[in-house]
Amino acid sequence: MKRILNKETNKYLDKKVKTAGWVDSIRSHGKITFIDLRDVSGILQLVCKADIAKEIRPEWVIEVEGKISKRPNKMINPKLKTGEIELFIDELKVLSEAETIPFSIEGDGYDISEEKRMTHRYIDLRRQRLKRNITDRQKAISFIRSFLEEDGFVEIETPMLTKSTPEGARDFVVPSRLQAGKFYALPQSPQQYKQLLQIAGFEKYFQIARCLRDEDPRGDRQPEHTQLDLEMSFIDQEDVIELIEKLFISLVKKLYPEKKIQETPFPRITYSQAMKKYKTDRPDLRNPPAGGKKDPNLLAFCWVIDFPFFKKTDGDGWTFTHNPFSAPKPEFMDDLLKKKNVKSILTSQYDIVLNGSEVGGGSIRNHQSEALEVVFEIIGYKKQEVKENFGHMLEAFKYGVPPHGGIASGLDRLLAILLGEETIREVIAFPKTGDSRDLMMNAPSEISKTQLKELKIKLWEK
Ligand code: ASP
Repeated sequence: MKRILNKETNKYLDKKVKTAGWVDSIRSHGKITFIDLRDVSGILQLVCKADIAKEIRPEWVIEVEGKISKRPNKMINPKLKTGEIELFIDELKVLSEAETIPFSIEGDGYDISEEKRMTHRYIDLRRQRLKRNITDRQKAISFIRSFLEEDGFVEIETPMLTKSTPEGARDFVVPSRLQAGKFYALPQSPQQYKQLLQIAGFEKYFQIARCLRDEDPRGDRQPEHTQLDLEMSFIDQEDVIELIEKLFISLVKKLYPEKKIQETPFPRITYSQAMKKYKTDRPDLRNPPAGGKKDPNLLAFCWVIDFPFFKKTDGDGWTFTHNPFSAPKPEFMDDLLKKKNVKSILTSQYDIVLNGSEVGGGSIRNHQSEALEVVFEIIGYKKQEVKENFGHMLEAFKYGVPPHGGIASGLDRLLAILLGEETIREVIAFPKTGDSRDLMMNAPSEISKTQLKELKIKLWEK
């Protein structure tokens, strides 16, 4: 007999079926024992004579065969998909025994230490709340994919082993064995590749991209995150804004119909207005109902625009505020080229904020190589360094560049907000700790002497 899912057993009233899963709980009622069997689709109540189940313990994996019957009326459980039926066990096979699990998976688990939960994440993921989060995450990503594909976007993978990009964070580096002494960088974002794909003529690119940034523990961050990364040619800021608003509004309508978007089109606010009025460039614009608390189903999106392009570094120089590949707003191009009034140059950067958290950002790019070179000079690169680090971009810019721009939206944060979670760790299957450790795999870890030798790497004495 072929195993079926618990949720399918409803269709087999008075018939014999085979199901399998984990023992969620056992209740013994004298001569009869009840087992709640859990599989990916939910719970099914099993019934058997006490002696058949006397060895069975919670979290054992079992397979059972038996007849599906209607439950007596007073035993119906309206909370379960299979609440009106039960399976009377004819045969029970133990597929795997289990030790007592290190923490309970009943309930939401917020009260259990995260260290514990992360160390045995595969057990934590048995929890219904996390199953739902991870499944909903996939639904959202699938929705985004279809939406963009229908709009003519092509999903293109870009390399994980690449060259350092200046995105404002530290790179994770990977030593090369074949080119000993040289290093790849893991991508902080596919920024340069997606621009090169525009030069290649793809016009509408997207990717559900992993981005890696070696950041110090700060707030609710992860060393790797997933973003919806996209780029388009022959467009302006309005096109990107319109696309993202349409995408987010339809995503919420389809998958989170209980949520209400406070205002559409999403309001826009300049960086300087935001700082003046809210003292932050991520304002939370939710208007709570009079006298009430913040409505958990209220979504207040807004765009923040007109950021300064540059800011002073700790030393005497300048650095970029967002993205060195952004174009200045057109009226500041002249100042940029002349390196005049650097402080007042505004960038074409636009950020999208949801309930006080940044959930995306992008810009119209600087597609003229002279102007891009000037940006790098302002932030202190010598001509030779520009060539070494960005020569490939300047070279590509010689061969016909369409005007282009794009955006990236941090999906972990977006989903955490939509799913009502406080931290992005709750929507990531295998998150890391604040100091970037994977407690389950015990990573990072030392590597063997042989590996080091092959890489021609000598470690500094501690
Ligand atoms: N590369 C930027 C980021 O990862 C997004 C963009 O400008 O498209 O934040």
